Amino acid sequence: MEKKKSPLIRVRNLRKEYVAGEDVVVALRDISFDVMPGEICCIFGTSGSGKSTLLNQLAGLESPTSGEVLIGNIPVSRLSENDLAIFRQRYLGFIFQSYNLMSTMTALENTALPLMFKGIDKKTREKSARAILKTVGLEHRLNHYPSQMSGGQQQRVGIARAFITKPKIVFADEPTGNLDTKTTIEVMEMIKGFAHKYNQTIILVTHEPELAEYATRVITLADGEIISDIKKD
Ligand code: ADP
Ligand code: MG
Repeated sequence: MEKKKSPLIRVRNLRKEYVAGEDVVVALRDISFDVMPGEICCIFGTSGSGKSTLLNQLAGLESPTSGEVLIGNIPVSRLSENDLAIFRQRYLGFIFQSYNLMSTMTALENTALPLMFKGIDKKTREKSARAILKTVGLEHRLNHYPSQMSGGQQQRVGIARAFITKPKIVFADEPTGNLDTKTTIEVMEMIKGFAHKYNQTIILVTHEPELAEYATRVITLADGEIISDIKKD
């Protein structure tokens, strides 16, 4: 008998309020959903709908006002800062809109950085970094610094860095927000390709309908609530 898959991410009655001076902003109202392993799940919505807040909650980057997030059986919303840091290093990868590369490090060094935090020796991590940079087409840019690369090239380094540890989940918040259409397609195909290869789960935050096309599921937020949840096959 085929074993029934269980959810990788479980979100239960999640609420997030921000206090800004006299005002309380309810960024997430009462969010519940599950994500299955291997899904490319797009969190879609207009600016201010709560997408980044939700991503930050899923990745344990901020604590909720109420409700909880579980990844596997780990209650990420209740871990200590220290345990969270270890958890993120072990299981999560991140891709940012503004790439967030270290300006004083080369493409090779940036890509290898997550392996350093895992205690892997220099020779082994540089070998892995070289290999993954080759798969993203940057074998001729290994020793270039971020300022010496185009936006698309920098984001390819960002992708290589996110996937080098083969994380269970990769979070991407507007990963193509600063890129042109052609580069956007290249970058999204790369993310999708890695996810398929290693059966990874992707949480993709975007306000661009074109990016939602790459997802297997689209959860639409409006004003901190889920207004639709569509699975494709
Ligand atoms: P999105 O990513 O969909 O554009 P956000 O999740 O960033 O939306 O924001 C959702 C709402 O929460 C917005 O109204 C925003 O102004 C508010 N918000 C986000 N972060 C903070 C914060 N640190 N302090 C106060 N309000 C915030
Ligand atoms: Mg945002």
